[in-house]
Amino acid sequence: MEQKRLLTESPFLDDARRPGVCVAGGQGAYMNTSEALRSLDLSPAKGKRVLLKPNAGRIAPMGSGVVTNPMVVAAVADAFIKAGAVVAIGESPIAGVQTHEAFDAAGITEIARERNLPLIDMDARKFVVVGVPEGKAITRLKLCPDVLDHDILVSIPVMKMHMHTGVTLAIKNMKGCLWRRSKVDLHMLPPVEGYEEKSLDIAISDMAGVLRPHLSVIDGTVGMEGLGPSAGSAKPLDVVVVGVDAFAADAVACRLMGIDAGDVPHLRLGAERGYGVLDMAHIAVTPENWLARASPFAKPPSDLALEFPRVKILDRQSCSACQSTLLLFLRRYGDKLFDYFPEESRPCMALGKGHDEVPVGTICLGNCTARHREKGIFIPGCPPVASEILHAISGTDQNDDRDAHSDAGRAWDKE
Ligand code: SF4
Repeated sequence: MEQKRLLTESPFLDDARRPGVCVAGGQGAYMNTSEALRSLDLSPAKGKRVLLKPNAGRIAPMGSGVVTNPMVVAAVADAFIKAGAVVAIGESPIAGVQTHEAFDAAGITEIARERNLPLIDMDARKFVVVGVPEGKAITRLKLCPDVLDHDILVSIPVMKMHMHTGVTLAIKNMKGCLWRRSKVDLHMLPPVEGYEEKSLDIAISDMAGVLRPHLSVIDGTVGMEGLGPSAGSAKPLDVVVVGVDAFAADAVACRLMGIDAGDVPHLRLGAERGYGVLDMAHIAVTPENWLARASPFAKPPSDLALEFPRVKILDRQSCSACQSTLLLFLRRYGDKLFDYFPEESRPCMALGKGHDEVPVGTICLGNCTARHREKGIFIPGCPPVASEILHAISGTDQNDDRDAHSDAGRAWDKE
């Protein structure tokens, strides 16, 4: 397999020791983005191939807070086209989601069509292996090859809380450049010796050592608070954050969300290694009154069991796809569980690969729990589909639409 080195310096970098970040708000997605981008000289992009990487990793509409607003993507595309760049838009979504369906749902297909821009399903071609020389949790990544075909990579995430990683912003959005299911590998790593942080957080900071955007445009038009990345609540903010240093842009977005970026492990670890600046004292934010646009985002519960106390959730080293499935199931069908379990009981639901044992009668969720299938009710899938959990429990015919997109991918569709 091929080894490639990826990271190149941003052609837009002003002062690496005191990076600039611009915040624009109050004018709608397109105008906010255009105004914030005017703080930069994009002329180095002339004649370059620019890949825009929004967050279209799930099937969700504009305004849901799940996916990047298409008018933010449109404004970035227009700015680069004006600068003489050759622009494309690419994504590799979560397992079970078809890229073009996600683009369609988000409204990104339309803005690409209007501008005659290619929309790239980055999962379509075979991966390229990239070494991670400073990696503590990972030593290589399987990368979508389209990333290497472009000169400039622009991260365009939507501003979200994340139940595993604190937030998902410009750095975390790069995980959508990892090939197909290899994203899940980052959720399945063993603990890293000498670190208190989760291996997932360490792996994301490892990833940032080789895969950082040359420009970050963070869409806070409508973000997501609470149970992000997919089962939270929409949070309208009408703001866009633009920065060349992705860590600095993320730090500013965190402040707008009412969070200290130093409390976000993958950002803190990456900044400690010198991949970017988090210290607000060393970030030049414009305009001066930018913090007037801040509005605290509700945090995700640290323990899902708190939100669903009638169910005993046994989570050992699961990944967010299975957790999204579980959340969706509990929110849609949680009450129906008690049609099949005694009211006074507290049904056990297990997910993740780390269970040595589970209690008899446990609902085992996802292929990671397959070895405990004899103990109770097993719902296959990686991730499984939420509606099938109820079918399995009730013993009714399963709608075994395994080729259809998983409910985890449609987690925005809450009743
Ligand atoms: S079964 Fe669930 S926890 Fe295991 S890898 Fe698949 S999605 Fe992740």
